[in-house]
Amino acid sequence: MPVPEAGPASPLGWRVVVRQPLTAALGDLVDLQRAVLGVTLLASLVFLLLAWWGARIISRPLEVLTGLALRVERGEEDVVLDAGARSAEVRALSTALKGMAATLIARRQALERSNHELEDKVAERTAELARSNAELERLARHDPLTGLPNRRACDERLALEFERMRRTGVAYVVLVLDVDHFKLVNDSHGHAAGDAVLRHVADVLRRQLRSTDFVGRSGGEEFLVLLPQTPPDEALRVAQKLRHAVDISRPPAADHVTLSIGLSEAQPEHNSSDAAVRAADHQLYRAKQNGRNRVESSFMR
Ligand code: GH3
Ligand code: MG
Ligand code: MG
Repeated sequence: MPVPEAGPASPLGWRVVVRQPLTAALGDLVDLQRAVLGVTLLASLVFLLLAWWGARIISRPLEVLTGLALRVERGEEDVVLDAGARSAEVRALSTALKGMAATLIARRQALERSNHELEDKVAERTAELARSNAELERLARHDPLTGLPNRRACDERLALEFERMRRTGVAYVVLVLDVDHFKLVNDSHGHAAGDAVLRHVADVLRRQLRSTDFVGRSGGEEFLVLLPQTPPDEALRVAQKLRHAVDISRPPAADHVTLSIGLSEAQPEHNSSDAAVRAADHQLYRAKQNGRNRVESSFMR
């Protein structure tokens, strides 16, 4: 390379003796920079790989434990909380999680057991309540002495039959039955004997009637019989059959017992169910007047 002439001196007194292109002058430095950059990049890459690998070793058992804990949370009970970790901290963590899961499972099982017990108790009490209600219902509508439907049940059944007749136009017959000279039974044999006679009469009536007929104790020594869908002549035969059955029966604690019976047919043009009962009562009065142990009715020839 040609040696340039020495130029004029600078104000500082320097003089350019040799000139070189910048790339040549800084060549070594650039090479060094590149080498340092390459080594740094490589070292960083290696460091990052090592850091990722290290983090993986630490976090892997934690991820496994998290997955197992989630299964326990979902209700699985046969989960073994073991991440197979070598680290003492992770092993301690999985031991603590095992204890927690065991406590949780035990509490959940205890809760389920007490829930079942509670449900069983509620079902038992509900059934008891239903039984008590049914018994109360039965007691409210039955006469304790004879077991027959009581006055209230008689009134309800009368209202029901009356409504049915209004709807269908099919009449029913009302029988009012009264034990003859019952006061004498009480007076001669005592009140307990009177009770036994009432039970006996109730049994005879019950046995003689069909299941579709109704018999109740309407009060004292009086009974009410309803014969649905029964023509008057057939009802008369039933009434005579009842009277006869009591007449020939052998009552306990009394020699003989008889019934007087009044009959009346309910009519769709009646204002209420009472009309037929009043008419049957009137016929009963006639049966008493005509000598007792008799059947009387408005439609009797
Ligand atoms: P009649 O033939 O005119 O019907 O005469 P009776 O004696 O049957 O009629 P009365 O009305 O004079 O007497 C009814 C008696 O029935 C009076 C009452 O003490 C008795 N009595 C009513 N309920 C019961 C009861 O539940 N048990 C007993 N033992 N007696 C009763
Ligand atoms: Mg009476
Ligand atoms: Mg009487």
